[in-house]
Amino acid sequence: MASESIGELTWSCHICGEERPDARISVVKTDTSDQYGLPLGTVEQNVRYCNDNPDCRQKAQHKQLIGGKAGEREEADDGAG
Ligand SMILES: [Zn+2]
Repeated sequence: MASESIGELTWSCHICGEERPDARISVVKTDTSDQYGLPLGTVEQNVRYCNDNPDCRQKAQHKQLIGGKAGEREEADDGAG
């Protein structure tokens, strides 16, 4: 009786946040190069989703892992003084 598993390989779904076994998680690769004005194939994101959940599967196609420009601000420090 020495067949003790160290731990199942699990991943968290990027859509619903559930932690699922490896077999239930699929990855969709989305090319996000266009967002940065880069040639296609430069930047890719891997979105994990529950492959047994149609809702996760669909949302994964349009999921943006890298947050938009929320909170971004330009700093204009002239350093005058
Ligand atoms: Zn999910």
